[in-house]
Amino acid sequence: MGSLLLPRLAHAGLLKSPVGINHLRPPGAVPEEIFPAKCIRCGRCAEICSYRSIRVLDIRYGVYAGTPLINVEEVPCYLCMKCVDVCPTGTLRRVSQEEVRMGLAVINRRQCVTWRGLALCRTCYNVCPFKEKAIHLDQLRPVIDERFCTGCGLCVHGCPLTPKAINIEPVYAFERKSRDVREEEAL
Ligand code: SF4
Ligand code: SF4
Ligand code: SF4
Repeated sequence: MGSLLLPRLAHAGLLKSPVGINHLRPPGAVPEEIFPAKCIRCGRCAEICSYRSIRVLDIRYGVYAGTPLINVEEVPCYLCMKCVDVCPTGTLRRVSQEEVRMGLAVINRRQCVTWRGLALCRTCYNVCPFKEKAIHLDQLRPVIDERFCTGCGLCVHGCPLTPKAINIEPVYAFERKSRDVREEEAL
């Protein structure tokens, strides 16, 4: 029964992780490979988030239904760290604000009006809580430093362009993926 059901679920996309560009787990999340097994879907993280950054996924997300996700284009994470404090299972680990790595901000220089020389927008720089560390200006153009970017998405939310010229890539979410990349690089 189970072996018949799994291919069907996969075909329907119900086994595909909801994590992707600008769609991120809350701060401190364990790797995505174990997230759905560890999260008991208690909803406490979403309840405590006063910014309503966290949405609880509905039944359309299959095995991921009931787990928390943040769409930073809609509402970014303000790094108050309350969700991390209330998670009863350690699915959100107790990390400091600076240690948060929800993803990495990446600027599309062909899209950004400042990089294109069309305007002097610096909204992403202005809204970043780690200004001059995670993001700085180089000849008035924004540049990200991956050593300090938390992936909070405030810059994405603030970017006035559609589509956004800055996006968060979930580069740290998948342990297997990053391990495979590391192994490939070591060959
Ligand atoms: S850190 Fe604060 S703002 Fe960010 S998701 Fe958790 S509760 Fe919400
Ligand atoms: S508080 Fe923790 S266990 Fe509860 S839904 Fe959020 S991530 Fe899952
Ligand atoms: S560059 Fe963007 S995602 Fe990174 S810390 Fe600053 S506001 Fe957050």
